Amino acid sequence: MKYLLLLLLPLQLLAQERAVLLRNVNVVDVETGTVRTGQHVLVSGNRIERITSKAITRKGARVVDGSGKFLIPGLWDMHVHVFNNISGLPPNEYYHPLFLANGVTSVREMWTKPGSLHHVRRWRSESATGSRPVPRYASVGTLVDGVPATWPNSDTVRTAAEARALVREVKASGVDFFKVYGQLSRETYAAIADECRKLNFPFAGHVPEGMTMAEASAAGQRSQEHLGYWAMFAELSDQQQKFRGLKPSELTPALRIELLQSVSAQKASALAAVLNRNRTAFCPTIVQFRATVLGDDPSIREDGRLQFTDSMDRADWTEFARRFTPGNRTLREARFRKSLDVVRMLHENGVLVLAGTDLGNPFVYAGSSLHDELSLFVEAGLSPLAALQTATLNAARFLGKEREIGTVTQGKLADLVLLEANPLADIANARKIHAVVMNGKLLTRADLDALQQDAKAQIRALGQGVQSGATGR
Ligand SMILES: [Zn+2]
Repeated sequence: MKYLLLLLLPLQLLAQERAVLLRNVNVVDVETGTVRTGQHVLVSGNRIERITSKAITRKGARVVDGSGKFLIPGLWDMHVHVFNNISGLPPNEYYHPLFLANGVTSVREMWTKPGSLHHVRRWRSESATGSRPVPRYASVGTLVDGVPATWPNSDTVRTAAEARALVREVKASGVDFFKVYGQLSRETYAAIADECRKLNFPFAGHVPEGMTMAEASAAGQRSQEHLGYWAMFAELSDQQQKFRGLKPSELTPALRIELLQSVSAQKASALAAVLNRNRTAFCPTIVQFRATVLGDDPSIREDGRLQFTDSMDRADWTEFARRFTPGNRTLREARFRKSLDVVRMLHENGVLVLAGTDLGNPFVYAGSSLHDELSLFVEAGLSPLAALQTATLNAARFLGKEREIGTVTQGKLADLVLLEANPLADIANARKIHAVVMNGKLLTRADLDALQQDAKAQIRALGQGVQSGATGR
């Protein structure tokens, strides 16, 4: 008995993290866009215990002066890849301190193989106890493709029977959702949708190449990822009979321009109605798409944040940036601009938009790229409030967790970001982070700076590990 008590002691100490009192702060209500000035926010355990305009004290609490500062909910990156499934290398744990240093307190992981779940379980426990700086792994899904698969090492299905069996297997493994991918046939996709419906198991991901966004939505796909692919424009074209079913290889540059110009607001509104009826969310990952079409831009290729990526990725990305030919730059820019128009039109028609970066892809950075995504939403035409919602309230709603998280509300989980300036006036102010509260634990500016240094140290160690004999990819 005595030994048991001794073993329990460290856990109890961890649970007794000191209370945090944020004094005289401006609280941003991301639901309504109002700002309540002069608030005192008390965090106790991992919850927001109290929000009041009366001055309060709490013995032993860490006090932060919030004068002139703005409090928002912790940010979510709804599309990340932490695992290196293609190369088989260990997961990029150096992302974790970078997420928190940039105010990203929750993530949705988009390719967690059942065999990798032990990592997620460990991260979830580290995040819960605060023993290491790790965001919430709010949801993790496993990628399943058709044949031939887009990526090596992905799980694939050829037949409806295989698809149904794999849905059952993935659900039983403890993964949170099934991620559908581009090469699935209509037959296997239909089987996945049906089996998921029977098991009440969510599926989300790419719209398969042989299907439309409207069809995938009607089948029950919870979220649709990415944007700017030619089939998307064809679906939104007012000349569908001309463009539907054409393969990208059949689209000449002239046809591409014509296709972009034929995208219609009316078609976007009709698609939005379908997505809304089926409660399908849209996670465009604009920041990743921008690098895909404009990755030869010096502002992308010579980004100072390259120091926050490992040497193998850096080599890959340089190689990636070499593929661009300057000749088609105008077309690439037109495609990017039209993609932003699509985001705006779907948003204006009420579609639930999610902020995701597709971290793990070239020129996407842990944490800071989420802020780029928010700026791109504003560039597309969303208000700063609407942009902020994509990374807070919308994410919580999408996962059915809005009663627990997603706003600065008494009783909710204490994932918070304290900003130097008002993000509703300028979304770039969301980058000016004074402090973060992760699951009730305070991280001051000095702590956040130390986390960035920690990430750099991990990246350096990784480089040495690679040179001393890890296999390439
Ligand atoms: Zn992805």
